[in-house]
Amino acid sequence: MGSDNLLAGIRLGELKGIGPKTEKLFGKVGIDNLDQLIHYYPRAYDAYQKCVSVGELVSGEKQAVMIRIKRPPVIKTGKRAAITILTGEDETGRIEMHWFNMPYLRATLKVGESFIFRGMVECKNKRVIMQHPEIFTTDKYETVRGSIQPVYSLTAGLKNKMIAKAVRQVLDRYSFIEYLPKDALDRYELEDRDFAVNKIHFPVSEAELKNARKRLVFDEFLVYLLRLAKINENNRETENQYIIEDTQAADEIIDNLSFELTGAQKKVWQEIRSELMSSHTMNRLLQGDVGSGKTILAFLSMVSVMAKGFQCALMAPTEVLASQHYKSFIKLLEENGMSSDQALLLTGSMTAKEKREAYERISEGKVKAVIGTHAIIQDKVDFNCLALAITDEQHRFGVKQRWIIAEKGFLPHILVMSATPIPRTLALIIYGELKISALDELPSSRLPIKNCVVDESYRKTAYSFIKKQVEIGHQAYIICPMIEPNEDLGCENVMEYTARLKKIFEPDIKVEMLHGRMTADEKLNIMSRFSENKIQVLVSTTVIEVGVDVPNSTVMMIENAERFGLAQLHQLRGRIGRGNAQSYCIFLQGDSKEEDNKRLQILNKSNDGFYIAREDLKLRGQGDLFGLRQSGVAGFSLADPFRDADILIQASNLVKEIMKEDPELSDEKYLLLKEMLDQVKNDLEGIL
Ligand code: ADP
Ligand code: MG
Repeated sequence: MGSDNLLAGIRLGELKGIGPKTEKLFGKVGIDNLDQLIHYYPRAYDAYQKCVSVGELVSGEKQAVMIRIKRPPVIKTGKRAAITILTGEDETGRIEMHWFNMPYLRATLKVGESFIFRGMVECKNKRVIMQHPEIFTTDKYETVRGSIQPVYSLTAGLKNKMIAKAVRQVLDRYSFIEYLPKDALDRYELEDRDFAVNKIHFPVSEAELKNARKRLVFDEFLVYLLRLAKINENNRETENQYIIEDTQAADEIIDNLSFELTGAQKKVWQEIRSELMSSHTMNRLLQGDVGSGKTILAFLSMVSVMAKGFQCALMAPTEVLASQHYKSFIKLLEENGMSSDQALLLTGSMTAKEKREAYERISEGKVKAVIGTHAIIQDKVDFNCLALAITDEQHRFGVKQRWIIAEKGFLPHILVMSATPIPRTLALIIYGELKISALDELPSSRLPIKNCVVDESYRKTAYSFIKKQVEIGHQAYIICPMIEPNEDLGCENVMEYTARLKKIFEPDIKVEMLHGRMTADEKLNIMSRFSENKIQVLVSTTVIEVGVDVPNSTVMMIENAERFGLAQLHQLRGRIGRGNAQSYCIFLQGDSKEEDNKRLQILNKSNDGFYIAREDLKLRGQGDLFGLRQSGVAGFSLADPFRDADILIQASNLVKEIMKEDPELSDEKYLLLKEMLDQVKNDLEGIL
């Protein structure tokens, strides 16, 4: 017997084999108690398939091969590591296997013995190589063959096995209470909860995994939609507390802009301004693909509210983006003869003293516009008269934040901005409390980005291309999946890459790096130098993914493009093609997998976020459980409103039924569901 409530109260250290040191490691990935452990779902799954012969190995696949050892392994001492190399063969071909810093393997890999080696296959110039394959005796392999093993996200020191073992202990010890009524389970063909929680970690077949996932996704949607239904009940068409009679200040800004608003921007601006003037509060989602020009609409709304003497807030998910918005806003105010003192930047990295002063100016109403990160929704921030709350890049925030920022004022107008392509029917469910405005048009001055998908042999050509673009005054981004060497030997990392590139490009072309482990000040410094063109080539991780706007950049080259989800690649590419010059995106595929190439070709063919999301879904198929997990829309952990549209609609139907029949959940059959909801109410973030 057990319940989630109970599990949240048990610390990880109470499990067998987990001492204080290991407990700390788990803490690093956000697992402190058993409930969090159980919700730490696998990032992917690994299916242990039957062995193949060397001749059947396919580059880019994870496969197992049986080799009888004829020659002992040799050890090569390199700069960074001692490499153990075993060359093996069967009747169909020859394979090379490499292990780093494991010289003791020599004792295991004895001539005359047979082992099964399992790892990622690389075929390079007719050589077949496996880096770091796992080693099994034939008996041992039999015990795992056919099984599906969970693959968890790790951190240095925390091993996959440690997590799997800990999860196993909890699953063996506790079972999970069903809180949905039996008739609902039957109607929506849902497995019970205990099954779902067990099988999401340790499925025995794909079918089990699929059913387990369906149930958990259903629950995520259900909890979310029930909360939303409650909010809608309270919020329906509230009276406008902050009527903006005119938007003259904003309209003057529009006349002074260096560009003309697109038709879509004009239409949406009309929607926003007429609502600000109307008798009810604005609750609006502004959806528009990367580069469609959402920011200016946020600024126009802000200026209108400020002109009336009210306060407004704009929240962005990263300091880099918040600071960029702040700078652009100040510039806009100054260009239009307005005082820039009215605006303030509020971020987590400010000193305690700076923050205190900011809080004071906000609560006294001395500043009218607060632009910042999560720092805006801290308890200490107390607005004097918040009339408009805007969230940019909504998909990067949890739902909780979207609701908290509204609570910073008394029924303020709400504007939520997002580039996530989500079909209207689904958006209506997910953003139930919001009306939707769509920016379905890019500025006409833009040239469509030219794309290419290439392999590593193209790198040199790409460098000379970048050089030429810099010579005519432009800038470039290069994206690597990793920050440091050794995190993952199979792909590029920002640190080494930058060092290499400096040797090639400097002193003529300034190369710098940007990544998430730099301090906020370092990041801001690099970004502002990049936007002033004091840096021409920026090597970065995906930290620049959201919102960054340096229109002079015309090239983006993405190393190991196969490592990213398509939605993410599309967001990354959105950093270029923002000015009037022709822009180019180079997707460099680091493996030669046919499947990866197919995915990348979708981006090659189109710059349209909706098209890409649809094609991606088609290609992966609803049934693909092993693929990359996409970043969800509203901060769900498993659910993806796009991919799981069917489940979303089912959950929404159940919520509608409940709201009609028994909105207070007073019937006995909802007793456990109600208890569960009350429990997550205070801790929504843990679930959503
Ligand atoms: P996103 O919708 O991705 O947030 P931004 O608001 O950052 O896009 O706008 C991208 C770039 O396009 C910015 O440099 C902005 O100044 C510029 N821009 C916005 N609207 C127009 C327009 N109508 N014509 C030309 N450029 C525009
Ligand atoms: Mg933006």
